[in-house]
Amino acid sequence: MLFSQDIGIDLGTANTLICVKNKGVVLREPSVVAVAVGAGQKKVVAVGEEAKRMIGRTPGSITAVRPIKDGVIADFQMTADMLRIFIKKAMSGSPFARARVMLSIPSGITEVERKAVHDAAVSAGARYVSLIEEPMAAAIGAGLDVTAPKGCMVVDIGGGTTEVAVISLGDIVSSRSLRVAGDTFDDAIVQFIRKKYNVLIGERTAEEIKISIGSAAPYDGEGAMDIRGRNLIDGLPKNIEVSSEDIREALDDPLNQIVETVRNTLEKTPPELAADIMDSGVVLTGGSALLRGLDKRLAAKTGMPAKLAEAPMDCVVTGTAICLEKDTLNLRRLK
Ligand code: ADP
Ligand code: MG
Repeated sequence: MLFSQDIGIDLGTANTLICVKNKGVVLREPSVVAVAVGAGQKKVVAVGEEAKRMIGRTPGSITAVRPIKDGVIADFQMTADMLRIFIKKAMSGSPFARARVMLSIPSGITEVERKAVHDAAVSAGARYVSLIEEPMAAAIGAGLDVTAPKGCMVVDIGGGTTEVAVISLGDIVSSRSLRVAGDTFDDAIVQFIRKKYNVLIGERTAEEIKISIGSAAPYDGEGAMDIRGRNLIDGLPKNIEVSSEDIREALDDPLNQIVETVRNTLEKTPPELAADIMDSGVVLTGGSALLRGLDKRLAAKTGMPAKLAEAPMDCVVTGTAICLEKDTLNLRRLK
């Protein structure tokens, strides 16, 4: 059967990526929706990049929300609206009526949540929807041979969740989903700066600090950053300087939780597969895997080699696209 379009979607807690067959990644936007609330009605005023810029800066009647929290859909209608706008943008006007969609979902979600994601894609206009577990998509996108009779481990650290999975023979042998990831890092930075300097900063600033000078292990060329926040003592703006060391201290606890989860998963992995992982190493994907020294810290604390995948933020969506191309998964026709 012929399909008008094949698209792969990584519906992430922080970012949504869309891949069109033979075109590569065509859309990369924050999973954010700005809504205006008036007369008891909610109206979507912006999505993606535009909506993200509104976070923390919106007038009273407009709120910017992230409809997917902790890896699950917190607001169904908003997720569907966002998805519809993104898909339309990705297709840039070409008809989508018969599109075949491969969508990634977190491995830990329930049947009800699974259906919610599926229905969101359908109500966004997709005709054929197939779901793939995120760690599987991440592993395929990272170039791992998931069908081999050998164990491999992928750790995807995104915005809301960290997904750890051991894969062999095309199946997930064991997996864990931890609600600690990039957002937790940002939060930990906000708390740390408040405690140490009595200064309040916003989440956006925390994220900027994390990306510019954050790390999971000491690195060459560590630096400091001038930031502006609100002095909690007199309520006025105040400039302070934070160092890489400060941020490492702030991130210590969430990083340890991630390491613990990886260790637990390894402990529960059958010995033969664990030996394979020892050979091939743990592969890191997701935006938060870009945190400096995270691979090094994980390797040191687990005794397993760990390596960052190429283009870690694209692995999941690339994985969905590869599945579409290979046509290996069964696609269900929907009514
Ligand atoms: P999700 O799959 O949940 O949408 P992503 O894989 O897109 O998440 O990753 C988003 C997270 O990656 C955010 O928390 C963001 O702050 C973080 N991130 C992006 N780039 C970097 C970087 N260079 N260093 C550390 N964290 C980063
Ligand atoms: Mg992701």
